[in-house]
Amino acid sequence: MIGSELAGVDQRLPGGAPPVLMYHSVQDYVSDPYRVTVRPERFARQLRWLRLRGWTGVGMGELLRAHRRGRARGLVGLTFDDGYADFDDTVVATLREHGFTATVFVLAHRLGGYNAWDGDGPRKSLMNAEQVRRVARQGMEIGSHGLLHRPLSELPHTEMVDEVHRSRAELTELLGVAVEGFCYPYGDLDRRTMREVDQAGYSYACAVRPASLACGLAIPRIHVGDRDNELRLEAKRWRARLRPVQ
Ligand SMILES: [Zn+2]
Repeated sequence: MIGSELAGVDQRLPGGAPPVLMYHSVQDYVSDPYRVTVRPERFARQLRWLRLRGWTGVGMGELLRAHRRGRARGLVGLTFDDGYADFDDTVVATLREHGFTATVFVLAHRLGGYNAWDGDGPRKSLMNAEQVRRVARQGMEIGSHGLLHRPLSELPHTEMVDEVHRSRAELTELLGVAVEGFCYPYGDLDRRTMREVDQAGYSYACAVRPASLACGLAIPRIHVGDRDNELRLEAKRWRARLRPVQ
């Protein structure tokens, strides 16, 4: 089975995965067919809810370093996929109000562009290079989401390799610090892509679903949507993992 073949990388995540929330975009909207957007007021309430229950939101690098030292208690990973411009103009300010940080996974070849991969859904702007550098200076972690947002397991080998390696190299160049984290577009991964992520030098990678694959290179995350008010957050099946910190 794939799980046992990955026993080596599994050691990156001893004791199982700490809780990690997955967001995309935070802005007001009329239509949101892909369910990737949370309204700013809702987002602010979700962060307040976490903080009042004793949780501190942090980026993935910090979360995993704490986890390895056995000191991740009370920490919840906050991740934002795609690198929407609202991360710069809305999300960071709200995070900072609570003393939280987060990881944003950006697309190296779509900086300053838009979500062209979402077909005919609403067009959303992506951060440009200067915005990415700015949020990094504000303490946010930048991870790679690849180059163009393509399903890696379906790509020819050389293109998949390019998505994984070049995105890390170019973002590292842009930021002047090594990019540690990768996030699979669409949560699409297989053994081949995970091995390539390992080869490229990433120290962790985020997936979407909890799976038998769960390990440091396929960290499962909890989708948070606009309908997740406090009661729904309570009721979600991950409730046991997000109970108040004693
Ligand atoms: Zn994405």
